[in-house]
Amino acid sequence: MSMKLISILGSTGSIGKSSLSVINLHPDRFKIFALGGFNNVDLLLEQAIKFKPSYIVTKDLPSKKLLIDKLKDEKLKTKVLFGEEGYSFIASHEDVTTVIAAITGSAGLISTVEAAKSGKQILLANKESMVMAGDLLNKICLENNATLIPIDSEHNAIFQVLSSQKDSQEIKKIILTASGGPFREFDIESLKNVTVDQALNHPNWKMGKKISIDSATMMNKGLEVIEASHLFRLNISKIEVVMHPQSIIHSFVEFIDGSSLSQLGNPDMRVPISYALGYPDRITSGVDGVSLDKLPNLEFFKPDLKKFRCLDLSYQCLAMGAAHCINLNASNEVAVEAFLLGKINFMQIPELIEKTLLKAEAADVNSVEHILEIDNLARLEANNILNKLF
Ligand code: MG
Repeated sequence: MSMKLISILGSTGSIGKSSLSVINLHPDRFKIFALGGFNNVDLLLEQAIKFKPSYIVTKDLPSKKLLIDKLKDEKLKTKVLFGEEGYSFIASHEDVTTVIAAITGSAGLISTVEAAKSGKQILLANKESMVMAGDLLNKICLENNATLIPIDSEHNAIFQVLSSQKDSQEIKKIILTASGGPFREFDIESLKNVTVDQALNHPNWKMGKKISIDSATMMNKGLEVIEASHLFRLNISKIEVVMHPQSIIHSFVEFIDGSSLSQLGNPDMRVPISYALGYPDRITSGVDGVSLDKLPNLEFFKPDLKKFRCLDLSYQCLAMGAAHCINLNASNEVAVEAFLLGKINFMQIPELIEKTLLKAEAADVNSVEHILEIDNLARLEANNILNKLF
């Protein structure tokens, strides 16, 4: 067993914190090389004192300066970088074996690509990079011997099932489970009036704002369908979604012989994170297993695509191709932000996305620059529509 040297992109977010708590249990296996955060300087300082990384990356220059002052007081020798160049530096540094890609949204794309170009083992939580650049990332990984291990709980479950099973011809379909979020039982009319706080209040998982809203609209599941198609190289017809409000079964794989396999676990991200970190070994995560005799009834039913338009739009975009998936992701980020700021109501999130998608054009996408160009145009379009119509 060789020591893994780890860079975490997004160490102050929910996935980053859970990752550090698992890493902290295994000092014989893991060493933190670098931490990339946003501008939560106090938390970065706390993490620096505990894990003594060689580098920390902050969002911008002011937060870098602030952190340097605080590090001096603690007599720590950690070097501080900032911005996109900093994130890319710690994602591609030659000493690093493993990169945890946990920056939220499209902001995580470039550093994830840099990790892939540098042949790293990438533990992927940033589903948006797979949605925006799935084909390209797969190609770069193949060319540079990089590997992707999903942290996203559904994909991690499928990865666990498939790790002893490589022939995709034997897979009939995969079924992603979805809790349905806080509004599973709301009707369309009442969804127009839900508040930001209600939308942020996920029944099973504690997560960041972006993914919490995505879970409430079920865009999260839509992005996960697209993510799964790239990670497991499966045709759209082989990827289904089932509602499962208890979040105990984290997905299924159905094989051609009629067998279905799944992974169960309490809804705590330390479980999939520890599998990804330890892979191919299993290591302790600090989370108890599922007590079968104490489980609530496990329910499963079909999602309502009229209510959860974002899931429907995601399937449509996956069928239309890469450029539409980029447009979907970009317009969703604009719409989520607008909702969080109180500019649009909850049901206007899919409306804004759908209107933006009407302007999307199919294209062959084969470089990061091209992806960012499409992303940028989609954001401009979404903002135009937002300002005109809402
Ligand atoms: Mg998930």
